[in-house]
Amino acid sequence: MQERQREQPSLTLQLPSPLVEVRDERLERHGVRLWVKRDDLIHPELPGNKWRKLKYNLAAAAEQGHTTLLTFGGAYSNHIRATAAAGWYFGFATIGVIRGEEHLPLNPSLRYAVSRGMRLTYLDRTTYRAKHTPEVIERLRREWGDFYLLPEGGSNELAVRGCAELPAEIKTDFDVICCPVGTGGTLAGISGGLKAGQRAWGFSVLKGGEFLADEVRRLQRRAFGADIGNWSIAYDFHFGGYAKRKPELEAFIADFAHRHGVTLDWIYTAKMMFGIFACVEQGRIAPGTRIVAVITG
Ligand SMILES: *Cc1c(COP(=O)(O)O)cnc(C)c1O
Repeated sequence: MQERQREQPSLTLQLPSPLVEVRDERLERHGVRLWVKRDDLIHPELPGNKWRKLKYNLAAAAEQGHTTLLTFGGAYSNHIRATAAAGWYFGFATIGVIRGEEHLPLNPSLRYAVSRGMRLTYLDRTTYRAKHTPEVIERLRREWGDFYLLPEGGSNELAVRGCAELPAEIKTDFDVICCPVGTGGTLAGISGGLKAGQRAWGFSVLKGGEFLADEVRRLQRRAFGADIGNWSIAYDFHFGGYAKRKPELEAFIADFAHRHGVTLDWIYTAKMMFGIFACVEQGRIAPGTRIVAVITG
């Protein structure tokens, strides 16, 4: 493919990502210490868990001789953007299969994806729900030729293995590590990388996210051969559902940025951080607990 012949742009990733302590009297009052793991700083176009989830998939795609990556997502999907960037930097053609109808002009997310060479195609919502069935995949192959398939959100067993590398980068002792949960791939992986006695807490960003626990177990069985009982998911910090924002969350983001110089994104990391502070303030976290919160993007 011509994509492979172009000179590859160079890519510098900030790994391990920085670990920074957050000093906040609302936590200190309860004897809790908190660090943030700044995965958002890994790379501006391949941030956080998206890089970790892609890493082994890119290697597998190259090893299997694929020249094209195809994946699925909503019109604002971070995973779509990251896949487009990965294609650009690693010399793959990319196809983004977007849920719903085309809206022109493209929103900034999709415009960015196209600027990185991604070709876009759209599935109506009913077909999109069946996107991982053999019928739909076959149809996409007839239309687009051969490709390496990344599932929606990029969460498969190779993604889980990539995320499992995160805890070993943390040289400070900790008891609990927290992350937001969209598809569960990141939580499944992080949990698999912990030492005995450590725990992982996920914060669902979806309303009715209870199905995510099964998803995490399924991913762990595929990646590690067993599900690992060291994690749990909080379901009460979704703020109305995926990408729903509320004034209380906006205020929390502004206050956190003001105090700590970290701007949390309102879809994922703000909901997690709000949840951590709420649990501490409600006395649900034992004094002495050392928490790492992963800023996933
Ligand atoms: C995609 C994304 C998530 C969700 O991760 P899952 O592995 O799908 O649970 C969390 N945080 C950010 C910033 C993301 O972009």
